[in-house]
Amino acid sequence: MQGKGFEHLDVREDVSLYLRVYKGLVDFMTTVIMIKTISFDLDDTLIKRTFADSVWLEGLPKIYAEEKNIDFEEAKQHLLKEYDEITDKRIEWYDISYWFTRFNLKHSWKKLLKNYKHVIEPYPETEDVLKRLHEKYDLIIISNAKKEFIDIELEESGLKKYFTHVFSSTSDFHKVKKIAEFYLMICDKLKIKPNEMIHIGDHEEFDYNTPKKIGITSFYLNRNKTNKGKFTVSNLKEFEERISKLSV
Ligand SMILES: [Mg+2]
Repeated sequence: MQGKGFEHLDVREDVSLYLRVYKGLVDFMTTVIMIKTISFDLDDTLIKRTFADSVWLEGLPKIYAEEKNIDFEEAKQHLLKEYDEITDKRIEWYDISYWFTRFNLKHSWKKLLKNYKHVIEPYPETEDVLKRLHEKYDLIIISNAKKEFIDIELEESGLKKYFTHVFSSTSDFHKVKKIAEFYLMICDKLKIKPNEMIHIGDHEEFDYNTPKKIGITSFYLNRNKTNKGKFTVSNLKEFEERISKLSV
């Protein structure tokens, strides 16, 4: 009598079914609770590039023209050639103080940055999206701009209060690009796993492919809407909608 019921029961099948259901539940739970941190690139993602462009292409040439006593256009062409020679592959390229030293300029680079702070302009949807997301997640910045630029951009735009951490690959990691090791170092520092973070930025390689490779859910922000993948968005509002679906 006692063993009767068990004769028809394939215990192995049953265990395998339970394991599958359990794994499904864990996967589901993981999807729901996984994301703790949302990371943003800064320039061309949250804030328009006007500030950096004005500093490099207008402010610095103006100072150079004044101190070397040449006209603005000549100064600008000379500087563009100099920028090209160093190239954005070298860390000095990003470093405003380096250029002041290299050209032996007497002006203060800090003053130059301050003089252009009025052109700092976030995208129209930036603040509303950050305001809502920062109630649910820790928000951070991962940028390759130097800290001097990031600080003034966040301060002047009033966006600083939404972020718990700001990381600069050039200032903190001494690398010109946001390589995988940089993202991993940030996860270590924040004591989170890569799959607990979402990153968004406008550089397909360094804001999308690189973080994606190490397990960070990544979104490519392409404001020109030329590429419409599942993880491509054309503005931050669309990004917010997309991630709300990820965690339902
Ligand atoms: Mg960018």
